[in-house]
Amino acid sequence: KIRVRYAPSPTGKLHIGNARTALFNYLYARHFGGEFIIRIEDTDRERHIEDGEESQIRNLTWLGLDWDESAQKPADVGPYRQSERLAIYQPLVQELLDKGLAYKSYKTKEELEAERVRQEENGETPKYIYEYAGMSDEEIKAHQASCEEKGLKPVVRLHVQEKNIYKWNDMVKGEITFEGGNVGGDWVIQKQDGYPTYNFAVVVDDHLMKITHVVRGDDHIANTPKQLMIYEAFGWEAPEFAHMTLIIDSTTGKKLSKRNEQALQFIEQYRDKGYLPEAIFNFIALLGWNPGGEQEIFSQKELIELFDPARLSKSPAAFDQKKLEWINNQYIKASDLDTVFELCRPFLVAANRLSENASATELHHAKRLVELYQPQMSYGEEIIALTDLFYTEQPTVSDEAKEVLAGETVPVVLEAFKKNLENLSEEEFVRDNIFPQIKAVQKETGVKGKNLFMPIRIAVSGEMHGPELPDTIELLGKEKSIRHIEKVLE
Ligand code: GLU
Repeated sequence: KIRVRYAPSPTGKLHIGNARTALFNYLYARHFGGEFIIRIEDTDRERHIEDGEESQIRNLTWLGLDWDESAQKPADVGPYRQSERLAIYQPLVQELLDKGLAYKSYKTKEELEAERVRQEENGETPKYIYEYAGMSDEEIKAHQASCEEKGLKPVVRLHVQEKNIYKWNDMVKGEITFEGGNVGGDWVIQKQDGYPTYNFAVVVDDHLMKITHVVRGDDHIANTPKQLMIYEAFGWEAPEFAHMTLIIDSTTGKKLSKRNEQALQFIEQYRDKGYLPEAIFNFIALLGWNPGGEQEIFSQKELIELFDPARLSKSPAAFDQKKLEWINNQYIKASDLDTVFELCRPFLVAANRLSENASATELHHAKRLVELYQPQMSYGEEIIALTDLFYTEQPTVSDEAKEVLAGETVPVVLEAFKKNLENLSEEEFVRDNIFPQIKAVQKETGVKGKNLFMPIRIAVSGEMHGPELPDTIELLGKEKSIRHIEKVLE
């Protein structure tokens, strides 16, 4: 049975890159009818953040992922947090010590640092140097005892077989080969505080949790040979590996990383701007994968059906925020009004354009505004800028639009239109009565086409493009529409 996992370290919010790892594992499991597990890799106590695990779970749930096993949903291979698995790792570390495949190492930080500096000065690649070289078993024991006496705490290091070759057939990258001598020497499997290191724990967990496929970012490629060494030491069979290519920010051409602040990169940031989770799911699924063909909009169900690991891209995935906006707009257009209204509501309330406990009339008006701009909107927050004209004395007019307003026939058109609007009563002030007023101006002035519509649109809304003019005017209301026109005529 196929079993895959997403194994976040709870050291930060859910980043697009991690969300992609989670999502591809999810698609993998669901496509093949396998199982998807979430394991929390919380052995790095220094980088731990308060709400790390909860925020991962919250954001993954929001994105529409679900899983078969986790700390909250345990089966029989738990616990699912590494910090709760120390009793599992420690006997296994002991097993390697007993077999002579690992050993206790007492070199201090200072000694290791001095060693590194010396090697760099000699132009060598820094590498841990075996501290018991040339010592007999007796001498080793005596050395260790004296270190213990001094109160030094050991780490446990793996005896690396420098001559061995570690290779695997990566599902994305093809065959990858590493020489044992290239991992920097005997590496630490258990830290001074008794916690395992990532490369040790991940193997123990993947093995005991019966993981069949490890799908993760290619920043982990250099870890894989170390992990293969642990499989080898225990005589366990290694899973298949798929290392996905990195994600490049299409505006900067640089790796999308938490340090590069330009692009929004955390799932929460998109949620907070009023994006739809289905759109983000769709967008992320196309980061480094595609089913072929021109189609770009896929439901979760379609993605599960279409997913094919053989189509994981070998070249970097481009993160294009404009494309995400486009996809989100497609989903907004296809959503019902209530859904889109809920995306916009927090922004309307924050901007004091809607009360927290809005009356039915107020809600109705606000919904009609949202409906008017639904086709144009990329994300919820945009409703504020799109509807500014409803809340200002005079809409701001772009330079291009100002030129249009300088046209010769503009004053007659606007005067005539204003007079016609004034003749409508408040009750009559609805779209179906407003449209004929524009036609009437054409008759009265002889101006038609663009020269007729554009000045009216710009005077009322400040914009050269937008929703249907009669609808905009109706929602703006008689008083404001006339005032906007007057401001231009002044
Ligand atoms: N905890 C690791 C990370 O956050 C997971 C690596 C893996 O999937 O093996 O990158």
